[in-house]
Amino acid sequence: VLLHYLVAMAEAKHLRYKDSKQPLNTRIKDLLDRMTLEEKIGQMVQIERNVASAEVMNNYFIGSVLSGGGSVPKPKATAKDWVDMINEFQKGALSTRLGIPMIYGIDAVHGNNNVYNATIFPHNVGLGATRDPQLVKKIGEATALESRATGIPYVFAPCIAVCRDPRWGRCYESYSEDHKVVQAMTEIIPGLQGDLPANWSNGVPYVAGNKKVAACAKHFVGDGGTTKGINEDNTVANRHELFSIHMPAYYNSIIKGVLTVMVSYSSWNGEKMHANRDLITGFLKNTLRFKGFVISDWEGIDRITSPPHANYTFSIEAGVNAGIDMIMIPHNYTEFIDGLTLLVKKNVIPMSRIDDAVKRILRVKFVMGLFENPLADYSLADQLGSQEHRELAREAVRKSLVLLKNGENVDKPILPLPKKASKILVAGSHADNLGYQCGGWTIQWQGQSGNNITTGTPILSAIKNAVDKETKVFYEENPSLDYVKSNDFSYAIVIVGETPYAETNGDSLNLTISGHGYETIDNVCSGVKCVVVLITGRPIVIQPYLEKIEGLVDDWLPGSEGSGVADVLFGDYGFTGKLPRTWFKTVDQLPMNVGDSHYDPLFPFGFGLTTEAHKATSEY
Ligand code: BGC
Repeated sequence: VLLHYLVAMAEAKHLRYKDSKQPLNTRIKDLLDRMTLEEKIGQMVQIERNVASAEVMNNYFIGSVLSGGGSVPKPKATAKDWVDMINEFQKGALSTRLGIPMIYGIDAVHGNNNVYNATIFPHNVGLGATRDPQLVKKIGEATALESRATGIPYVFAPCIAVCRDPRWGRCYESYSEDHKVVQAMTEIIPGLQGDLPANWSNGVPYVAGNKKVAACAKHFVGDGGTTKGINEDNTVANRHELFSIHMPAYYNSIIKGVLTVMVSYSSWNGEKMHANRDLITGFLKNTLRFKGFVISDWEGIDRITSPPHANYTFSIEAGVNAGIDMIMIPHNYTEFIDGLTLLVKKNVIPMSRIDDAVKRILRVKFVMGLFENPLADYSLADQLGSQEHRELAREAVRKSLVLLKNGENVDKPILPLPKKASKILVAGSHADNLGYQCGGWTIQWQGQSGNNITTGTPILSAIKNAVDKETKVFYEENPSLDYVKSNDFSYAIVIVGETPYAETNGDSLNLTISGHGYETIDNVCSGVKCVVVLITGRPIVIQPYLEKIEGLVDDWLPGSEGSGVADVLFGDYGFTGKLPRTWFKTVDQLPMNVGDSHYDPLFPFGFGLTTEAHKATSEY
């Protein structure tokens, strides 16, 4: 025993990188000095879980694995399934010569949203409406716990895009059209990561423990500024515009210690961001002194050329020399490894660039405590979808609702609605569909339809739970005007909106409600006093119907906790949300943002009527 102990002591002294008492920079240098080129390049590679295995991790010294949208070990996988899968990959990484742990990443962009039974929080646009950074910080804490519950120490969030045009399919991933709101919401970063000491990168060892995750500010930079909101397209802006609108949230993120930054697919004035050395190395790393790692987007370097992957050698050179440290390959990793190896051997990519990348990746892994605790356990499993987190999500939903119209004048408000009524009608495609209320990036990349996609409360169920026992609730998805008229409803709630989408699939030039939504509004609101609740990722065309509608609420994409909607509709809580975006009258006004000279909105940025709790009239 003693001999073993002495040998272990000697080894620990020898392997300084394994000694957590050594200063961070000492550990990094010690490890880097031991690494071969092959091992270094492996660290820079991130592969998809569906091509990963312990063997692949071991053979190629892979540094990171990800779940792309909806990529799960099996449908309805439990926390244990996730932990077992990730540990399996990790064991492969740990069995390499130097035993460098891999880091697993996932798009937990509104809760740990790929995972069955996780709490699904409102998408960022709804959080922007709350104007409540401390609430968003708590959501970060909950998301970290639910990610760690599944063994995941790294999330590709927050998206700090400043969406300037709602025609963009990712507009709901943006907190606001206003950079100041986005800047405030970077408070999610200390929620996710914990409060890092200001000098964390200068050698202060900091171990995040197993309750925090590394965050990722994305997509650097100008992703929300493309012309007509076309996804991955070109942002035309002078330097001043880029730096005063799209860059500021990066300053906040870096001050708050964000450990990683993801590069945008988009171009700035025609130049692909993935090849932009001036902004990635020059500005982000040198000027802002960002010390974490820069990660590419999914096949992001491939898309430096058009068509994508037309000249992969050129892409590798351009991307890595621009300053990208970790490459989300995510499938054809051997092609990348071979290509990069050759470019380094030919000195087209200098060794110093490789060392910079690897140092940054190791720094994040050390800071995250992965060398000390590489394997996950099941101890946090009951954090997934916990009651406490669902309560927090419900609070976020309540605060995200924006009241846009409330009766014809202030003396005759329709909201809050009375819980006691003889008969009420609930209508619309989005009333009883958990998948729709969660939106894209939920279980599947593009989102899903239906109530059994995961666990949660559809809004219809929440309404039924909220009203008085004697109140009869009728539900018709798309009732005719005759039906509405022939029943003597006290009032109706119409819940319609956009069906789920993600990224390019959400790009839209007409911004309309999906399915029969307008018809439902028409039929119901022509026959009975009605409140329309919109489930949308952005403002949509509503002006032509406004007169008909007595009460109008935007609920954005509220997530799994539909009860938060009923809480406010029936006056247990007041409306407090403020528009995070300008609401247009017609799409030909777009783009239109607060401050523009042609500003002529239907509802201005920041608009939102308020109600007080418990002021509902007893009956209509
Ligand atoms: C998206 C990123 C995301 C990545 C990994 C890409 O398509 O642009 O935001 O993090 O996929 O799923």
